[in-house]
Amino acid sequence: MVAKILDGRRIAGEIRNEVSDRIAAHTVRYGPIRLYAILVGHDRAARLYADSQRRRCLQAGVQHELVELPESTTQEQLLAEIDRLNADPGVTGIMLQMPLPPQIDPAAAQFRIDPYKDVEGVSPANIGWLFYDAPIIAPCTALAVVEMIHRSGVEVRGAEAVVVGQSRIVGRPIAMFLTTRMATVTACHIATRHLSAHTRRADILVVAVGKPNLIGADHVKPGAVVIDVGINSISVPGPDGQPLRKTVGDVKFDEVAAVASAITPVPGGVGPVTVAVLLKNVVEAARKQLAR
Ligand code: NAD
Repeated sequence: MVAKILDGRRIAGEIRNEVSDRIAAHTVRYGPIRLYAILVGHDRAARLYADSQRRRCLQAGVQHELVELPESTTQEQLLAEIDRLNADPGVTGIMLQMPLPPQIDPAAAQFRIDPYKDVEGVSPANIGWLFYDAPIIAPCTALAVVEMIHRSGVEVRGAEAVVVGQSRIVGRPIAMFLTTRMATVTACHIATRHLSAHTRRADILVVAVGKPNLIGADHVKPGAVVIDVGINSISVPGPDGQPLRKTVGDVKFDEVAAVASAITPVPGGVGPVTVAVLLKNVVEAARKQLAR
């Protein structure tokens, strides 16, 4: 079997087209939609991510403001900045660029964001509402995984789904989403014994761990749909013998593609869809704020 490649860039383009019309209509009627991204310190990856989000926002008609705070920012100063943005009616959405400097507790900062402005869907209110399948704004990456499964025509109801990785804002919300969509879900994590005994039963296998090459062909049932959420930067030998950086997922792509029925690549899979879903969440936040 040769797996169908679930093309995240194509799916992201579809979502952006749908969202652009909604953003234009909202802007004409109620004024601009404004996303505020808070960047604390000088982490290079966080800045690159913020820059790429900014481009996507501007293309879609969303205003993007980068709030830059120094590396020495205290927890109290960051919470005060979040409070200020929460209270400002001109602010539609707030997101925190990760990673944050070590003196900041990321969960405490995320928890401070108004759930109606929490466009990443990571506040306790939004995560909690997932249990009722009714978040104000759903967690972006989990929503991106569901979008990829849904838009690829994969039947979730009744499927055996295994989610490897159970972090609070990625793996666990994915497992909850699949549960509410009537899959039979197994949640695997670092303490799981005999990982492959679980993963080999999966019709839908979602891997969100952050360890390159964790999942090989021997972990995968023939015909399974494999969604690789992992993003890892590894070093590989370049043509001149010098090391090159390469981005890979958690799944051994080539060997798993030979047994799966569908698979997401890294890069070009869940990542671009997560960015498109963020735009969808921004316009959803604008809509929900009008109604509250
Ligand atoms: P995390 O470190 O918070 O959580 C990792 C999870 O994996 C934990 O639940 C841990 O128990 C589990 N785990 C660790 N080793 C394991 C093993 N050997 N076997 C089974 N489970 C194991 O990470 P996170 O924030 O959830 O991110 C996971 C990955 O997803 C990372 O690579 C991250 O970069 C990526 N990510 C991608 C997107 C996207 O848009 N594609 C978004 C967010 C995160």
